[in-house]
Amino acid sequence: MNKDIATPLRTRAILEKYGFTFKKSLGQNFLIDTNILNKIVDYAELTNESGAIEIGPGIGALTEQLAKRCKKVLAFEIDQRLLPVLADTLQPYPHVSIVHQDFLKADVYNEIRQHLEGIDDLAIVANLPYYVTTPIIMKCLQDHLPFRSMVIMMQKEVGSRIAAKPGTKDYGSLSIAIQYYTEAEIVMTVPKTVFIPQPNVDSAVVKLTKRKQPAVQVKDEEFFFKIVKICFAQRRKTILNNLISQLEQGKEKKERVQGALDRAGIDPSRRGETLAIEEFAQLSDELLADFHKS
Ligand code: SAM
Repeated sequence: MNKDIATPLRTRAILEKYGFTFKKSLGQNFLIDTNILNKIVDYAELTNESGAIEIGPGIGALTEQLAKRCKKVLAFEIDQRLLPVLADTLQPYPHVSIVHQDFLKADVYNEIRQHLEGIDDLAIVANLPYYVTTPIIMKCLQDHLPFRSMVIMMQKEVGSRIAAKPGTKDYGSLSIAIQYYTEAEIVMTVPKTVFIPQPNVDSAVVKLTKRKQPAVQVKDEEFFFKIVKICFAQRRKTILNNLISQLEQGKEKKERVQGALDRAGIDPSRRGETLAIEEFAQLSDELLADFHKS
């Protein structure tokens, strides 16, 4: 019986057998600690009826632990060189499907239909390539993929921004974009020593639990996200000044922005980082109404 993939010895043996060289440009830092992997999988709360979607299986360290705990695993890997490795390391787990695709370009619904048919409970679990963490998470959220929760290893600093609360230095448009769809929580910080090669940055595991409804109801989602971005455009500026400088030109813009802030009950001298998501929702609805009038 083989040892788990995620041990330093077995991982080195696999890398050597295939003469594998890491591609920094693909964010390849492989996990070599089974305890950490088990904790990640625990947070996904899988049962033997669940399906797991993984982005970037590498040599299969996390994939193997997922396979032990759920009914089916679907994993997207961009690097063709890893396909023969995965076919070898995951050979004991026929309920794992590896798809050779860039996750950002993949038709994920179609792959779910093909490989996870009939499974109602889906979790996304991944040790993400750090260079594309945000676009991958945003794709899962904006495409409304049918998952219950995401448990994601990422750069610690990005995790802090994602889970940040109003009034903190990390709070910004990324916090709001993700907390609009999910409840976000940092569940673990992870030392560099559990990866080969060791990354330059610290890591954290973030759990995103999908909300049944978005955190706030807004009249126009696109406009809401645009206003959030504008309010954080220059963090040291007040929301009034950010809105005046970034919104399209128009007659009496300052008065109209001030009127909308007034109706939303928001002090124009506040900074974006102090506004709760509900306040951004009120503000964008008021601005939308006002800007529609012109
Ligand atoms: N899951 C493995 C582990 O924990 O040891 C590997 C994680 S490594 C941080 C990231 C993996 O994502 C690499 O295998 C890399 O080739 C793959 N990858 C990078 N960009 C990708 C993309 N756009 N789509 C799918 N896989 C990608």
